Amino acid sequence: MNHRYRLATVALHADASSPEEAGSPLAPPIVQSSTFAFPGLPELDRVMSGEVGGYYYSREGNPNAQALAAVVAALEGHPCGVACASGMAALAATVLALAREGDHVVSAREVYGGTRTLLGEELGRLGIGTSFVPGTDADRFEAAVNSHTRLIVCETLSNPTLRLAPIPDLVEVARRRKLHLVLDNTFATPVLLQSASLGVTLTLHSATKYLAGHDDVTAGVVTGTAEQLSRIGRLVARLGASLDPFAAWLALRGLRTLPLRVERQCANAMGLAQWLAGHPRVARVHYPGLPEHPQHHLAARLFGGRFGGMLSLELAGGEAAVDRMIRRLRLVRLAPSLGGVNTTVSHPLRSSHRYLPAEELEALGISGALLRVSVGIESLADLVEDFEQALAE
Ligand code: PLP
Repeated sequence: MNHRYRLATVALHADASSPEEAGSPLAPPIVQSSTFAFPGLPELDRVMSGEVGGYYYSREGNPNAQALAAVVAALEGHPCGVACASGMAALAATVLALAREGDHVVSAREVYGGTRTLLGEELGRLGIGTSFVPGTDADRFEAAVNSHTRLIVCETLSNPTLRLAPIPDLVEVARRRKLHLVLDNTFATPVLLQSASLGVTLTLHSATKYLAGHDDVTAGVVTGTAEQLSRIGRLVARLGASLDPFAAWLALRGLRTLPLRVERQCANAMGLAQWLAGHPRVARVHYPGLPEHPQHHLAARLFGGRFGGMLSLELAGGEAAVDRMIRRLRLVRLAPSLGGVNTTVSHPLRSSHRYLPAEELEALGISGALLRVSVGIESLADLVEDFEQALAE
């Protein structure tokens, strides 16, 4: 797109090919083909050598995956993107593309559990070491950098206590120390934070969450510069971590309404957080939109006055009270994912963080009393009523 459109328009039009042929479909067709045919060798050669654009084998690239990646890249403000089979595939391909045996990574310690085990265990086994540091302090990241460090990994908003990475400061550290900064923007989405506008050059998403948004597809996307993405894209194909055409089609269909959904989720989350904060059985609410959140001002500045659809709460009655409330909720279901149109809750201690040692759980502020809420697009009044009846005597 040559014209600079706004976010909601980009989500709808960034993959449009023009000029249109008469009678072309408005919705993109699903190209459910694992391979592509050619009239003869010169034509095949031109596509395989990259001399002309085109497809020859779906693992190496297919129109639906490419369209999804192009729209996410446009939303993040990056020139290129690559779609992958999952968020974990996106992370694995990114780190493996940028680091080799003997290299070192500095990561926020609050990152998603799968990210933590991939970096700390699997990549550690391959000789890529990771130091985990408290994720809200850029100085702690810089202090952990050594002569082997190649990249910094962080998440815009941490799970489950919703702390912000100091992104502008980390961009500076990465620039000064000549490192790649990899930002997982899954929780915030480009609706809250467009990475390129802050100087972030490499961003990834679990598109399984907000981008696709309907809890019906597993996908990931990496966006960044052409140079970085050509290496990452090659590795995605070589690892066989490419996205299936139908999954890509579903994710793109969901992505069309991302700005609408997230705006509604932000409004619902703010309303629910405020209501929960005033409830006598709720000991604490973690939501960047509440003035008592320790990084409320940073969130207001970085996210343009919206604060996201994720919150967490601690019940005064501990784990037993949490289980009681979960069982009594009628609309809101217990499910270990997030970012979909339905409001769901998850219990970090019993699911995502269950394998962490006690001292780390304490450092991360995770106890049995903590419940994470992924706020959906229902009517706020119905959500409040559901929590109200579930918390009642
Ligand atoms: N990043 C974050 C912040 C996540 O929450 C998740 C999954 O929950 C992932 C990455 C991994 O994504 P996927 O499950 O699509 O592999």
